[in-house]
Amino acid sequence: DRLFKVLVIGDVGVGKSSIILRYVKRDFSENYKPSIGVDFALKTVEWDPNTVVRLQFWDIAGQERFKKMSRVFYKAAMGALVVFDITDSSSFEGASEWKRDLDSKVCLNSGCPIPAVLLANKCDLAGQARDLDKFCKDNSFLGWFETSAKDNINVEEAGAFLVKHMMRC
Ligand code: GDP
Ligand code: MG
Repeated sequence: DRLFKVLVIGDVGVGKSSIILRYVKRDFSENYKPSIGVDFALKTVEWDPNTVVRLQFWDIAGQERFKKMSRVFYKAAMGALVVFDITDSSSFEGASEWKRDLDSKVCLNSGCPIPAVLLANKCDLAGQARDLDKFCKDNSFLGWFETSAKDNINVEEAGAFLVKHMMRC
């Protein structure tokens, strides 16, 4: 069995906590406010009949405005979900800053670059058209998903995609 530390990062209000709530508890709330600091959530996934994968999500609250996290936060992370809100352009720019911070701080225990997936969240709302393939390439994301924590779109798929890549590291 394997345990993966997964970071969920992105600007404040993009839906990080909502995505975790959706993925882990299959729930959504309009006013989800976790405590200040770092929150943890655990999800167990049956990878195959012999392997159980446990995902430990690290959800930040309050520190987002600094856009830089401590080395302790990044230590031994095995994967990351970088979230932005499609209706908020500054959070889109924020996504590349978050990715850069991640790449500068994470320590590679496997020698393979940390799998990071871009989530264009709140796709139930109208947003600006963006070339996310190019953005992923430029910022070395493995891939992207348009998600909605609210309407339960692609959250499960994005999680499974990340797990698949973490299992290879
Ligand atoms: P965080 O600060 O990144 O953890 O963001 P939250 O999870 O607290 O979400 C911020 C706000 O956006 C809350 O009011 C959520 O209900 C809302 N929200 C989160 N995900 C979605 C989504 O997929 N669609 C819509 N319409 N609202 C969302
Ligand atoms: Mg939050």
